[in-house]
Amino acid sequence: MRAAQLHSNETKLRINDVPTREPVGDEVKISVKCCGVCGSDVHLTVHKTVKLAHYPRILGHEASGVVKVTGENVSKFKKGDRVVISAGTSCGHCKHCIAGYYNLCEEVGVLGFEVDGAFAEEIIVKEKYLTILPDSIPFDQGAILADAVSTPYHALKYTGRLSPGESVAIFGCGGLGVHAIALARALGASRVVALDVDKGSLDNAGMYGADELIDLKTVKNPGKALKELTGGVDVVCDFSGRYENVEASVRAMNSGGRIVMVGIGRNKLEFSFPTTLIMKQITIAGSYGADFRTIPELIDLYLTGKLDLSKSITSHHPLEEVNECLENLYYRKNNPIRYIIEPGK
Ligand SMILES: [Zn+2]
Ligand SMILES: [Zn+2]
Repeated sequence: MRAAQLHSNETKLRINDVPTREPVGDEVKISVKCCGVCGSDVHLTVHKTVKLAHYPRILGHEASGVVKVTGENVSKFKKGDRVVISAGTSCGHCKHCIAGYYNLCEEVGVLGFEVDGAFAEEIIVKEKYLTILPDSIPFDQGAILADAVSTPYHALKYTGRLSPGESVAIFGCGGLGVHAIALARALGASRVVALDVDKGSLDNAGMYGADELIDLKTVKNPGKALKELTGGVDVVCDFSGRYENVEASVRAMNSGGRIVMVGIGRNKLEFSFPTTLIMKQITIAGSYGADFRTIPELIDLYLTGKLDLSKSITSHHPLEEVNECLENLYYRKNNPIRYIIEPGK
């Protein structure tokens, strides 16, 4: 089959023919229909700031497709089923995995990082990673449920414990952040403020329903600006990985507020006002990936009309154009949300 593989010390994926095999046990072989291009793929390639333990590796962790062959122990899926593939991987036998909280597994990994991913005509995964995709959800919008939509949903709903009527601020309005805005709306947030350094990302944030936009290029003190604008926020979600945003948020929080860190950065997290954190009983929590509840709940939100992903797909590309997509995402050419690779085309 054709697949896009990353070799060590290279910044571009090689489009190769790679050997395939048949699924065994609880494995399912899927014809990949769509796979989203994520910012983390850019870190692995163009940006080269993240290294993998093993090369070569087929990237791609945001995929949908059709079941082609099932292993002998597969019980829930059959040939022809439309499916979404979860982006996270896990051991399957620890207490968190047994409870379905895969993203808490100590061996948590990501498709296309620890195992081969979906920038390929076919992929083999265990059936526990699959969810049926209803016919009314197109493959491209279904694919992005696996990460661009599920990661912010988990962060807001389960880590951030967002309740209807609460106010929300989103730092970093790329592919995950804009969906956080739409999801905060869907979960009943009273007000959503979007903050970013990039004008195009702020335009996208407005399109996804942000009430207010703060340009971090011109605003020197985002915490103060946020406080003045809103009077106080209940949930902050940071997708930027700029930890100074986390620190700045503290002064804008309401008592009992939650700051959720999703974006992974490199600088130190420091607090000038730890007393505020204590007195206001503010929680700072990390959120990584999504658990068993997320994709089925997102499908419900979609089917009941509360989640509109029609604006989320920037363009569709054959596998041969994956390197171009990675580069365009890095340079934010044409203000992308999600490029979709269609490996079968
Ligand atoms: Zn991703
Ligand atoms: Zn586990």
